[in-house]
Amino acid sequence: MIKYDPGYMSLSDSAFREKKERADLLSLHCSLCPRRCGAGRLHGQAGACGAGKEPEVAHFQAHFGEEPPLSGKHGAGTIFFPHCSLHCAYCQNHQISRQSGVRYPLSAEQLGLIMVRLQEQGVHNIDLVSPTHFVPGIIAAVHAARDKGLRVPIVYNTNGYETADTLELLSGIVDVYLPDFKYADERTGLRYSGVADYAAYAKEAIEAMYKQAGDLLLDENGFAQKGLLVRHLVLPGYTQESMNIIDFLKERLGTAIGLSVMSQYAPCYRAHEFAELNRKLCVAEYDEVVEHVQEAGFTQCWIQELESNAVYFPDFGCSAVFGNDLSR
Ligand code: SF4
Repeated sequence: MIKYDPGYMSLSDSAFREKKERADLLSLHCSLCPRRCGAGRLHGQAGACGAGKEPEVAHFQAHFGEEPPLSGKHGAGTIFFPHCSLHCAYCQNHQISRQSGVRYPLSAEQLGLIMVRLQEQGVHNIDLVSPTHFVPGIIAAVHAARDKGLRVPIVYNTNGYETADTLELLSGIVDVYLPDFKYADERTGLRYSGVADYAAYAKEAIEAMYKQAGDLLLDENGFAQKGLLVRHLVLPGYTQESMNIIDFLKERLGTAIGLSVMSQYAPCYRAHEFAELNRKLCVAEYDEVVEHVQEAGFTQCWIQELESNAVYFPDFGCSAVFGNDLSR
């Protein structure tokens, strides 16, 4: 039987405090993400991502729409943070990432209490969605929550646009890294997400995550305890780029990482501004990517059904954000 205690259980109080201090320093003239926009976050100045001084939460719930090792039987304990370092034209969470949806400012202690409350609901993990710009508050929140009885793994659910310095602060705190790997070509990242260096940062970040967390480790029930699970959303017309991403992962990290291939792309937000993105995936292009993934031989791989592109679209203005099936 595999028994793994979350890394934060063995982190000393002084190590937590030191990480928080270093994270605060990074946000003084903010360089928490590769944009390094220099915003004086500690003095309340909002950054290019939109985040200010205090952590904010847009929504939290037990979520049943994540990959099976995360949602399990009782759901992933998702905490959705507003704002984002990327400006993706097709963002499914645009109501909270780019627009002025509901946001609740809160202290690190209150954020820690949300984590404990989710655990009391029986979730398998704490799934931090778009967390990077709030890393200082998250470090303090996990510290506070650990002291209040938090015992489930921490999942870092990120767009993949990360710096080595910020990831290093998360060593010993994050158990499961869940990064997107959106683009292998810088031109695609610039066109759709507004940054010219996504691929370089994402590759470096995903390798650093792997060094910290290793292959995906599941417990005897198949629930994620530790490791790396990479997500890739296939975009219409970009099958070759998808296959380049698969090849990179296999060559650099091997085939025992977790891999989630997603078909849920559907045009939303500003996608209509790009004619090539203004359609869903077609069967032939998704099949081509799936075949490539299967030939690569990943041993822990989840492949979404093509029909799922309507199911996973959130509406953060609705009480059941993911509909009744995924928000039980
Ligand atoms: S996290 Fe936000 S404030 Fe900090 S560097 Fe990135 S965009 Fe700027």
